Amino acid sequence: MEVKIGTSTLAIVEGDITKEETDAIVNAANSGLRGGGGVDGAIHRAGGPAIMQECRAIGHCPTGQAVITTGGNLKARYVIHTVGPVWSGGNRNEANLLRSAYLESLKLASKKGLKSVAFPAISAGAYGYPLNDAARIALRTAADYLKDHPEIERVRFVLFGKPMFDIFSEELEKIKETRA
Ligand code: ADP
Repeated sequence: MEVKIGTSTLAIVEGDITKEETDAIVNAANSGLRGGGGVDGAIHRAGGPAIMQECRAIGHCPTGQAVITTGGNLKARYVIHTVGPVWSGGNRNEANLLRSAYLESLKLASKKGLKSVAFPAISAGAYGYPLNDAARIALRTAADYLKDHPEIERVRFVLFGKPMFDIFSEELEKIKETRA
């Protein structure tokens, strides 16, 4: 499922982000860049130790910010590591921090001259963000960015499992309607 935004494409697919052929995949990292479970663990396992070595040299990434490493053994050339907020009820600036995680990742991609970026559902796993809200913020932030940044030609959300894909597709339909 996809929507055209100017000359760019915003798409959602069900799949495993570690297999993506794209300029960069985004990792839902923790602020210590230490790896861990979920998509973070999967990316480091598939990408090999070079990515962790670069993460150690960078050291730290605050919530809502993003850093970049090479893609190691992945098909993707780069991994952008961003840190989404831990959901703690909604009064801790979670929405702005989640928006910022997507935005800073996209800005980094633009700065590096990358044309295609793939995202997982940041904060929507262990960090506990309510799923529909997480999907809406993800898609709206990407759509708004693409409107003003045609240098990014393709943003794909690679969702792990049908339930998450369905949630994103519901939210993407709403975006299509408001843009029609
Ligand atoms: P966070 O700590 O930011 O919540 P998680 O890794 O726990 O990050 O979960 C984020 C999302 O990534 C979840 O929807 C999870 O199902 C998904 N995920 C886990 N492994 C993969 C993978 N290989 N590819 C894409 N998404 C994945």
